[in-house]
Amino acid sequence: MINFNFHQHSLFSDGKMPPENYVKQAIELGFVAMGFTEHSPLPFETYYALSQQREQEYMNETNRLTRTYADQIKLYRALEQDFIPGVTEDFSSVSTRLQLAYSIGSVHLVKPERSDDLWFIDGPERQKYDDGLDQFFGGDIRKGVTQYYRQINQMIDNEAFDVVGHMDKIKMHNAGRFFNPEDSWVQELVDETLDLIKEKSLIVEVNTRGIYKKRADSYFPDHSTLKKVQQLKIPIIISSDAHLPEELNLGFAEARQHLLDLGFTTIMFFNGSNWIELSL
Ligand SMILES: [Zn+2]
Ligand SMILES: [Zn+2]
Repeated sequence: MINFNFHQHSLFSDGKMPPENYVKQAIELGFVAMGFTEHSPLPFETYYALSQQREQEYMNETNRLTRTYADQIKLYRALEQDFIPGVTEDFSSVSTRLQLAYSIGSVHLVKPERSDDLWFIDGPERQKYDDGLDQFFGGDIRKGVTQYYRQINQMIDNEAFDVVGHMDKIKMHNAGRFFNPEDSWVQELVDETLDLIKEKSLIVEVNTRGIYKKRADSYFPDHSTLKKVQQLKIPIIISSDAHLPEELNLGFAEARQHLLDLGFTTIMFFNGSNWIELSL
């Protein structure tokens, strides 16, 4: 049983409940550890990110919960840091200011070259994805997907963080319409990113949210990418990217079995100072 989760969102970002509800649920589930990973503050209005004005409140509340529940569960303050080149604050400044235990690095907004536009590839609205692809990339999916992976690579090259979040989220709103993830040009992009991840000794997140929300037909990342992750011996975590307490362990048992079938034998666990390998 996987009794920990290092990726979830509360009311401090776009989750639906106060953080304490997640703690109580985690204890009920028999979890031994959990990380708070709100979306990092962004220098413009969004509905989903932690606001800069609430950083101190986030620190105070996570400190309070960590102390209050110390004898029942290990809790960590972290962030899912958004990377947009030339726009987002560097991860290490944010980590220092908020005294983060670890960071997940993710791309949700893709910035085309030589433009200040931002293509929102996540969120509930498929139309936004389609419109952005048309407006910012002239409808050229190859351009859009290439820019997405380029931005992830830039994040890996330039930022300090621990886990690559939902690596192929770009496929979610594609939903089999514009590109086939098995196409060789996509696989080449995936290979390049995996090589960088390996080089920098980062962890790949196996994110179950697309499956249990029925927004994707595979984990982020998908089956063929996970096979490569296994061959390259890149470490992984399983997380649910919960936006509700009851989502904390959704899809874990199936994901674990899927990974065992692929030949994975270990999973990473954060022990307060380091990521350590546990048997799967
Ligand atoms: Zn995310
Ligand atoms: Zn998330």
